[in-house]
Amino acid sequence: MTALAKAEAAKPRVAALDKAYGHLDGLALLRVMIEKEFRGRIALGSSFGAEAGVLLALVAEIDPATPVLFLDTRKLFEETLRYKETLVARLGLTDVRVLRPDAAELVAEDPDATLWSRDYDACCDLRKVRPLNRALGDFDAWITGRKRFHGDGRTTLPTIEAEDGKIKINPLVRWSQADIAAEFKARDLPPHPLVAQGYLSIGCTTCTRRIEPNEEIRAGRWAASDKTECGIHKARWSKNP
Ligand code: SF4
Repeated sequence: MTALAKAEAAKPRVAALDKAYGHLDGLALLRVMIEKEFRGRIALGSSFGAEAGVLLALVAEIDPATPVLFLDTRKLFEETLRYKETLVARLGLTDVRVLRPDAAELVAEDPDATLWSRDYDACCDLRKVRPLNRALGDFDAWITGRKRFHGDGRTTLPTIEAEDGKIKINPLVRWSQADIAAEFKARDLPPHPLVAQGYLSIGCTTCTRRIEPNEEIRAGRWAASDKTECGIHKARWSKNP
């Protein structure tokens, strides 16, 4: 089945799930997806970034053995790698899967690790999109932490969607920045260490800068270009129609 055909086939499932659960979000939506609809067939994708603690804590409250997919591009901040260890220990997560770019592909396509400086999209494809797609083969659905207040193409995100035949659950789309902050406080979650330095959206060291107080939350990502997303949320059929 082609990627486009898979996307079409998933539409009725999305419609049924949306009808049953589209009014839910946060913990309530996660619980029904993890315990009922996709039991044993769902994973959480997490960057262990600035806001990630909330979604990780909600998932851990339901089932700390839920698989968590973490993309280690080999270009992350040391602070992110340490924060991951902190949160895993704090929340008792037992199945965090570290996804790295394929070694042979790295040698062939980015031998000097500077591909990012010539072609952001190719680098993200090599270091993020392909490793994630390989890992998602084990699952029917995955959970993302995207929110509408992030702006750009995220302002109209649905709670439940499909991409390349996988169902995507976005439990925090309707949450505000204040909601996230309140949940951090209520659960006494440790902040990512770079937040205090002005990094409110955190990716690779080469492609992330701190933001000014008047800037959009994701303004520090690929700031020298018009790129706004890494590509893991873009359907393959839309790239290769
Ligand atoms: S964010 Fe930058 S360094 Fe990281 S994978 Fe994308 S282009 Fe490469």
